[in-house]
Amino acid sequence: MSELAIFGGKPVRKKLFPAYTFIGIEEKAAVNRVMDSGVLSRFLGCWHPDFYGGTEIQAFEKEWAEYMGIKHAIAVNSCTSGLQAAVGALGISPGDEVIVSPFTMAASATAPLLYGGIPVFADIEPEYFCLDVESVRQKITVRTKAIIVVDIFGQPYNVQALNVLAKEYNIPIIEDCAQGPGAQFQGRYAGTLADIGVYSLNYHKHIHTGEGGMIVTNNDDLAERMRLIRNHAEAVVEDKGTEDLVNMVGFNFRLTELQAAIGREQLKKLKTLFDERIKNCNYLNEQLSKIPGIRSPGLRPDATHAYYLHPFLFDEAKVGVHRDIFINAVKAELPATALRELEGQQIGVGYTKPLYLLPLFQKQIAIGSKGFPFTTASHLLSYEKGLCPVAEDLYEKKLFTHEFMRPPATREDLNDVIRAFQKVYEHRNELIF
Ligand SMILES: *Cc1c(COP(=O)(O)O)cnc(C)c1O
Repeated sequence: MSELAIFGGKPVRKKLFPAYTFIGIEEKAAVNRVMDSGVLSRFLGCWHPDFYGGTEIQAFEKEWAEYMGIKHAIAVNSCTSGLQAAVGALGISPGDEVIVSPFTMAASATAPLLYGGIPVFADIEPEYFCLDVESVRQKITVRTKAIIVVDIFGQPYNVQALNVLAKEYNIPIIEDCAQGPGAQFQGRYAGTLADIGVYSLNYHKHIHTGEGGMIVTNNDDLAERMRLIRNHAEAVVEDKGTEDLVNMVGFNFRLTELQAAIGREQLKKLKTLFDERIKNCNYLNEQLSKIPGIRSPGLRPDATHAYYLHPFLFDEAKVGVHRDIFINAVKAELPATALRELEGQQIGVGYTKPLYLLPLFQKQIAIGSKGFPFTTASHLLSYEKGLCPVAEDLYEKKLFTHEFMRPPATREDLNDVIRAFQKVYEHRNELIF
């Protein structure tokens, strides 16, 4: 009988990996403080001092801005709504084109649709997986009104080249930093590297408030427009004296006092959680890269990586089996993680199907049933397979990611992961049918 767990052998480990719980007494005390006050949220959707939210919200925003070294931080109820507010504040209008990455969580590519903007996909870098500057250049037209870059997996985008390109064409950049809080490029924090940055505070991210998000910018005008979009702009503009009405249809994107109080405590833990991840990933990079055909992708010069997910490149020619077969065998050797048992083992292949392959783009049905906003395009839109070969190749064959490095993983936990990979590699011939 085979040794491999996938064929009935004894797995490397059965005991669940430890849960990622880093909500502690500090957050509990913060929540109690708000509960005792009785004011669980303090926003008013009219021009009034409470238009900007209550004391916890304003303190959280101030502390976030100070931490990241930027002028404005605007708390919102998700990164998705933050990206939408950013697109709205930039004045995106029907038929405008926004260049996006196909290799990200769907919200980074769909945010323009809310304002009738058309997502135009550019390909990504084979080594760093962020938007590729040459591909972006080829997609720029007179209608391009914004670029949404993503610090994917936690590594900052190609700041130097893309910021220069965007400046040359006078196109603003929105940085989706949902996966990168704490990462840096040349000593500046990810999220603050473009015109507008947006972070996520959902349960799965480095630090969280259950659900939540934070927008940052140094631009006073954009900051104010995003605060308007967050909180019923249409009802506020008149009394506030805002004259530019473009995209001043507001939403309720407000975060509560409870969440802000939790977020303030979580922010204090970011550095420790970040450092712990880096340490774990460095160890795994060193150990797993010893296996022929498995390689840690490059780190962008001058950048640090936040490792929201820990990516690896897989070379089928060297290992002799397809990535998916290999990773399935690794999964069989390892248990799930406590509190997330239903998700199975925290390891996956390909990350995401390139987003242009989603039905929304394939059928070009987004807002209403008549093809809006795709029908407002001035040229033929392309969302066909083959559009972004680098992203497709990573999805189909080359990339896998895992989350075993999340605190409080111990060296022993990581060693079990390494043993699982080594074992499957040693027995790889059994996987060839
Ligand atoms: C998680 C995530 C989002 C969405 O964040 P929410 O706060 O859940 O809306 C957007 N972009 C990326 C890259 C993400 O990882």
